[in-house]
Amino acid sequence: EPIIIARDVHKWYGKFHALKGANLTVSRGEVVVIMGPSGSGKSTLIRTFNALESYQKGKVSIDGIELSDDLKNIEAIRREVGMVFQQFNLFPHLTVLENVTLAPRWVRKRSPGQAETEALQLLDRVGIVEQAGKYPGQLSGGQQQRVAIARALAMQPKIMLFDEPTSALDPEMVREVLDVMKTLAKSGGMTMVVVTHEVGFAREVADRVVLMDGGIDIEEATPKEFFQSP
Ligand code: ADP
Ligand code: ADP
Repeated sequence: EPIIIARDVHKWYGKFHALKGANLTVSRGEVVVIMGPSGSGKSTLIRTFNALESYQKGKVSIDGIELSDDLKNIEAIRREVGMVFQQFNLFPHLTVLENVTLAPRWVRKRSPGQAETEALQLLDRVGIVEQAGKYPGQLSGGQQQRVAIARALAMQPKIMLFDEPTSALDPEMVREVLDVMKTLAKSGGMTMVVVTHEVGFAREVADRVVLMDGGIDIEEATPKEFFQSP
């Protein structure tokens, strides 16, 4: 049973036709990696899945909730869909712990104690609990990205979107972030859509690889089919 359905999605930025009938169906618990050249619409497509981006034609539905132009379902969608960006997007004036407890406290109405206990567990899971009291600026890029993953998970989303999560990192930090994502993928249950150029990750972790070019998906295959030489 699909949890994400995108059908014939069209998006124009002014006169620029960025999505030209993109299609993607993702099953519950599936890990899908989207690859393709820069500017091919990968980011735009996944941003429609949490209503960060509107679209003008087609249909997107998330766990049975249809996204529509009047944006009435935005809150429900945002609770179900966590997102990790290329540029961490942490709040610089909040500590690591505060970054992770913020949304649970104000959106999920957790008590401060509950939110903190859950946040520390998540920070432990991403291997960064010792840094809980620090500010983002005191951490490496890889550590900040792991905080960003913990922050998204704190909302207990059903779906996690990753938009080039390692592209802004120094090479030595890419591994630690991919390892956290891999553990999450292998833990089962989490539906993940990952835009990345990391072929090794796609090959090892993806259930399915989608290739986008020119605002549409041009090929879909299992990693094995996808990466085997013709
Ligand atoms: P990808 O993620 O595959 O690199 P994007 O989805 O970021 O591609 O962008 C697809 C195309 O849409 C690119 O040509 C990009 O320049 C354009 N685009 C993205 N965002 C905007 C925007 N806010 N305004 C105008 N054009 C945009
Ligand atoms: P990504 O790494 O997600 O592909 P980009 O570097 O393409 O991001 O874009 C970063 C931001 O700039 C996004 O918010 C995107 O919407 C915006 N953007 C991208 N291309 C254009 C463009 N041609 N005109 C205006 N805004 C753009």
